[in-house]
Amino acid sequence: SAVKPSNFLRAIIERDLEQGFQPARHFAGSPGDAAHHAAGPLDPARIRTRFPPEPNGYLHIGHAKSICLNFGLARDYGGICHLRFDDTNPEKEEQEYVDAIKEMVAWLGWTWDAKDGAGREVDHLFYASDYFDFMYRAAEYLVSQGLAYVDEQTPEEMRANRGDFGTPGKNSPFRDRSPEDNLTRLREMRDGKHPDGSMVLRAKIDMASPNINLRDPALYRIRRATHHNTGDRWCIYPMYTYAHPIEDALECITHSVCTLEFEDQRPFYDWLVEHLAQGGLLARPLPHQYEFGRLNLTYVVTSKRKLRQLVEEKHVDGWDDPRMPTLVGMRRRGYTPEAIRAMVESTGASKTNAWIEYAVLDGYLRADLEGKAARAMAVLDPVKLKLENYAEIFGSLEHREACSAPAHPHLPELGTRHFSLGPELWIEREDFMETPPKGYHRLFPGNKARLKYGYVIECTGCEKDADSNITAVLARLVPDTKSGTPGADAVKVKGVITWVGAHEGIATELRLYDRLFTEAQPDAGERNFLELLNPQAKRVVQGYLEPSLSAVAPDTKVQFERHGYFVADRVDHRADAPVFNKITGLKDSFGK
Ligand code: ATP
Ligand code: MG
Ligand code: MG
Repeated sequence: SAVKPSNFLRAIIERDLEQGFQPARHFAGSPGDAAHHAAGPLDPARIRTRFPPEPNGYLHIGHAKSICLNFGLARDYGGICHLRFDDTNPEKEEQEYVDAIKEMVAWLGWTWDAKDGAGREVDHLFYASDYFDFMYRAAEYLVSQGLAYVDEQTPEEMRANRGDFGTPGKNSPFRDRSPEDNLTRLREMRDGKHPDGSMVLRAKIDMASPNINLRDPALYRIRRATHHNTGDRWCIYPMYTYAHPIEDALECITHSVCTLEFEDQRPFYDWLVEHLAQGGLLARPLPHQYEFGRLNLTYVVTSKRKLRQLVEEKHVDGWDDPRMPTLVGMRRRGYTPEAIRAMVESTGASKTNAWIEYAVLDGYLRADLEGKAARAMAVLDPVKLKLENYAEIFGSLEHREACSAPAHPHLPELGTRHFSLGPELWIEREDFMETPPKGYHRLFPGNKARLKYGYVIECTGCEKDADSNITAVLARLVPDTKSGTPGADAVKVKGVITWVGAHEGIATELRLYDRLFTEAQPDAGERNFLELLNPQAKRVVQGYLEPSLSAVAPDTKVQFERHGYFVADRVDHRADAPVFNKITGLKDSFGK
């Protein structure tokens, strides 16, 4: 269940603001460094955070946590949150992902536009790859100071010599070359004189450090790959651990908030920005990294690699498959940004990785949709109901008996739904039983039940085909029992049946979704998570909708009475070929 919000990040920010901290002011840089213009003139005492996705896949529910935390802190403390694409790795990054990430951050309700210190509206959207020139210059600086060296060991040798937890590493035989030698080699690396993987630039720190991240971490590698932003300009690319602190510092980030797995990287983060500040390459005060616990959601996986595998191996129908915990998938499923934000904010920021029950998210979703989704009747598993005395009561089989209901029980402004009775209706197959169990109050021969917003009917039997399948349920209308009329309650019944007139029901495709996995923590155990995919997570059926839904736009959310919340599919729904997705049931019924 939801963790009580803990405010350690807020406490840190409030302390910093109280102490009147001054964010870094931008030094004049060369025009080639976009970064130097990035942050614009700064107000003193404004915090800066950032959400730094790598554009190598679609955002998932875990990212929503980081987005809401970073943008939320900036909002709450009058600061600015940057959207920064951490695009330092050319291999897997694509424009498609950049566009989708921007779209989903905005969908969640956030903007990276903010007023700068001079009151101008500034787009705080950045690309780490715009800092490649600066990063390279900083690398030359480190080499010149004897703080970095080119290592020509093979990757295997490097791994072997790194040592292990409790075992110190061994110095590389290339570690003690002169700064001049190293500078020459670094420039050769940059100029494409050496093959991919033949050497790397490493920081020169301490091969015996108990923190393995300080055992001369790699800063640059050679990789001939076309980058989505810089094309073929570079054949060397900075490592994430080197690039990230520089990005934060250039953008004058004050509170660099990241997930717990980066905690061991913090000493290197501090080492790097401190040395670059000493060399006058970065302005003080320097950014600080703070770590919080990841958000994990039960019954899904939140690892881009595994999500990609689901897509590429076609276990799902794409990144926006409504079963996926990607934000594009959840949006298509019908989850609202309000519900996602409420769930994420309820978890606060803590120092442990949190597991959130999927049911908690569904609870927030219901709380949001309950208050705004219009109601409608829909039949998901249809069987015909024939009203045998229809012509007797209404004078003709052609008569249509008008019925109505409020579109929403508490929102009169949503108006009234209109539909009508005819001699044949669609009802749910489960609403009739020839020989019912005890306590069953719906239709069985001799029993009375109410057609919701309509009449009481008495079941008389059913029709069957040659294989004994029930093809129609038979009933008689009880006169003078119409809902809303004076005698309506004279006949007492326990069962209420939802229905759609066969003469006006809208035939529709219904995609019934459930949890993607059958176990709460599908990637925690020994079994391959793919074996735990829920084969029932998507079922497609044909049903009927009441006529009030004849012209709803894609993405309209509706509560189908008694069934749950549904959304008109944003991709496939058309007025003449409706498609509705099940978002969630009216109450938590998973596994029941
Ligand atoms: P994945 O592990 O799914 O590949 P990532 O961390 O590699 O995700 P990034 O694009 O680097 O993906 O993520 C951007 C930001 O979102 C990072 O700061 C990261 O820490 C944060 N983030 C990613 N997953 C979660 C999560 N489950 N909970 C909270 N924050 C997350
Ligand atoms: Mg990452
Ligand atoms: Mg990751």
